[in-house]
Amino acid sequence: MEKRYEKVWMGCLEVIKDNISPNSFNTWFAPIKPVRLNNNVLTLQVPSQFFYEWLEEHYIDLLKKTIKKELGPEGRLEYSIVMDNTLNASQTQPYTVHAPTLNKKALKNPPINMPVDLSNNKTKDRSVPNPFVIPGLKKLNVHPQLIDSYNFDNFIQGDCNRLARSAGLAVGQNPGKTSFNPLLIYSSNGLGKTHLGHAIGIEVKNLYPEKTVLYVTAEQFTNQFIDSIRNGNQNDFVHFYHMIDVLIMDDIHCLAGKPKTQDVFFHIFNQLHQNGKQIVITSDTPPVEMSGIEPRLLSRFKWGLSADLQVPDFETRIAILQKKIFNDGVDMPGEVLELISSKIDTNIREMEGALISILAQSSMNRKDITLELASQVIDKFVKKAPKEITIDYIQQAICNYFEIPMEKLKSKSRKRETVQARQLAMYFSKLYTKSSLAVIGNKCGNKDHATVLHACKTVKNLVDTDKNFKKHVEELDGILSMT
Ligand code: ADP
Ligand code: MG
Repeated sequence: MEKRYEKVWMGCLEVIKDNISPNSFNTWFAPIKPVRLNNNVLTLQVPSQFFYEWLEEHYIDLLKKTIKKELGPEGRLEYSIVMDNTLNASQTQPYTVHAPTLNKKALKNPPINMPVDLSNNKTKDRSVPNPFVIPGLKKLNVHPQLIDSYNFDNFIQGDCNRLARSAGLAVGQNPGKTSFNPLLIYSSNGLGKTHLGHAIGIEVKNLYPEKTVLYVTAEQFTNQFIDSIRNGNQNDFVHFYHMIDVLIMDDIHCLAGKPKTQDVFFHIFNQLHQNGKQIVITSDTPPVEMSGIEPRLLSRFKWGLSADLQVPDFETRIAILQKKIFNDGVDMPGEVLELISSKIDTNIREMEGALISILAQSSMNRKDITLELASQVIDKFVKKAPKEITIDYIQQAICNYFEIPMEKLKSKSRKRETVQARQLAMYFSKLYTKSSLAVIGNKCGNKDHATVLHACKTVKNLVDTDKNFKKHVEELDGILSMT
């Protein structure tokens, strides 16, 4: 059951979400955990001192408003900070910063027992000079942005991913210490790049909790960089990245055509690499095929190992689906899994999408999961390769629709319904085929190109003026576009 403090915080998040960018929301609010609510005081657990200061500096008004909205005028806020203290395991207990009045001044002097490395002079100055460095903290407490379920346990091994997976595991177990630096993972869409990237980060975090791991998409990186230019704290941006031990940059191809961002990434890359830090990169193409990326950056990518993820074979696809339903605690007949794996064979994400849709359909309509239900759902997922539409096909469809023989359509008959059918054949041939006007005319009763043009104009006019005719055109269009 949802606790009251969770409900209150959910209510706050709703409002906050509407007021800030998704990026800021994910960075600053998604990692917050509500922990209790006592006497109208909501306690939020934040990952670090820096986090707390940043929230106070930038989001205090928004927080104030939402807390009051949820809890009334008596609503108060207090923070519990999880210390990243690598010196002493017993100090990993969260400790609490009381911010009883939600008053910024009071918060500048929170009544807390500062742990050793926070009690130096620098931390007395509680203004946060920039978003990337924690004042007075030697160790950066970066939220790694990792998704828990994207771990190695859930990453099924197969021939399709053997090298990438084992290299990833090696890197996760020995970050910066293997020759796989950078490790570049590439594949087409939906084959597990992002999953593997996270898995490496999670492995590092499990084995070396003190290491600073960061998962970031190339797009986020670009946005942060642009923001830092706008705010004049480019140095802090670079400085922040210099402190990362394991940098996982997803979808590097998104940097294509962005020379300034590539330039700053190039320097960060060099700095990290020189200092034995691990870099993991994913991309939708191998380095040799990347376009829009500067040669000097590309040459860096070749320093380490490039490994690809291929389309999994049938058995691996089944194993992936089995793992998925096992994790979700649901049951599904084997033959349905086989059907999904055989019909959707190039994209794991789509396979999972079909699986979820089947589950949803069955629970919504209270139907058992049968092969029939599954194949209905899958049909919607599998885009049929468009069959090429020919003039002959269009003519036949029109003859069927109006129930007139083909000879008539191709004749010189001036009967009104024949003329219209012929004109429609010309119109749709122009719309759906690449044939020239002359060819179309030739096939539709041996007419010239001007006649075809005239026919197209006439059809358009009639659609605008004649309701009945419009209906015919729409129906025919539906029939032809379903081909
Ligand atoms: P990409 O980043 O290459 O587009 P993702 O990493 O987002 O692909 O993977 C798409 C989906 O497929 C994710 O839900 C992921 O968990 C799943 N997936 C991919 N590869 C595997 C695998 N080997 N084992 C289990 N699940 C996988
Ligand atoms: Mg991805």
